[in-house]
Amino acid sequence: MARKLIIAANWKMNKGPAETADFIAAFLPSAQALAGECDIVIAPPFVSIPSASALLADSPVALSAQNASEQEKGAFTGEVSTAMLKETGVHHVILGHSERRSIYGEGDQLINAKVKKCLAAGLHPIFCIGETLEERESGKLQEVLRRQVSGGLAGLSNADMSTVVLAYEPVWAIGTGVTATPEQAQEAHAFVRTLVGEQFGKEVAEATRIQYGGSVKPSNSADLMAREDIDGALVGGASLEAESFRDLIANAVA
Ligand code: PEP
Repeated sequence: MARKLIIAANWKMNKGPAETADFIAAFLPSAQALAGECDIVIAPPFVSIPSASALLADSPVALSAQNASEQEKGAFTGEVSTAMLKETGVHHVILGHSERRSIYGEGDQLINAKVKKCLAAGLHPIFCIGETLEERESGKLQEVLRRQVSGGLAGLSNADMSTVVLAYEPVWAIGTGVTATPEQAQEAHAFVRTLVGEQFGKEVAEATRIQYGGSVKPSNSADLMAREDIDGALVGGASLEAESFRDLIANAVA
């Protein structure tokens, strides 16, 4: 099945509103041409979302948040609700990123609650999974991915899955400059697709887009995206400069 590529920029804690506006001004002209072949998503920090939303209106680039609360509203200091994100024009939400898992202690149950909260609000989760180096080296890759997929996507319907994007991000490749080889990535993606199939059936598995994340850059995006089960990328470092993000996408769709 032909799945349209989806490439997302995860800016993490980089770029306030002014830098966000500068990036969008530089990036948008090339985005118009590339968006026919690839869904393009930008995930700025919360405070830059309103400015990004205004600048991306009527453009083919979709806006994502990097997190969302599993709570509805109320006394949750520092949290941002799905309703607030919806109101500001957000379309996707990155959930379960390894930095949220390892630095902020988010576990599968909490991530699952966030996934469901986003779906209930009509937001599209970009649901991240991936193993640490220690887990890979001790032969636990499949066990970890199985736990993360079954836990994070528990209780979702097949219809829910049509709006969920998965991102396989080996933790040892995130921000390290070390990229999984296209073979390593393809093998993990094929396994993740099998897991989705076990949980939701073959048709859903075939339609689900699975991004690769971990030091994707202009020089390796084409090789990675050429693999059968790699349907896009979640990009940190190489998405911070408009030129680099543009080249990465252009090479991926070429
Ligand atoms: C990420 O933040 O999800 C990521 C993959 O970062 P980088 O591209 O910098 O490895």
